[in-house]
Amino acid sequence: MAWSIDNKKCLRCGTCVSVCPLLALNLEENGLEIDRTKCVLCAKCSKVCPVKAIKVEK
Ligand code: SF4
Ligand code: SF4
Repeated sequence: MAWSIDNKKCLRCGTCVSVCPLLALNLEENGLEIDRTKCVLCAKCSKVCPVKAIKVEK
């Protein structure tokens, strides 16, 4: 699966968490985390991120 997060760029704004239709994202103490068993690589999170911290490749 080609989903990746750059937690150094991430602003912890939570926008990606709120748009994920599968509820696969969570903001944790260490940064954004993904549940890879839920993600369907729709790329919605990547499109809404204001700092382009998420990359999704099918
Ligand atoms: S690619 Fe889609 S399903 Fe996967 S974490 Fe992002 S919004 Fe959720
Ligand atoms: S939308 Fe981008 S900056 Fe905001 S929490 Fe998600 S990855 Fe971080």
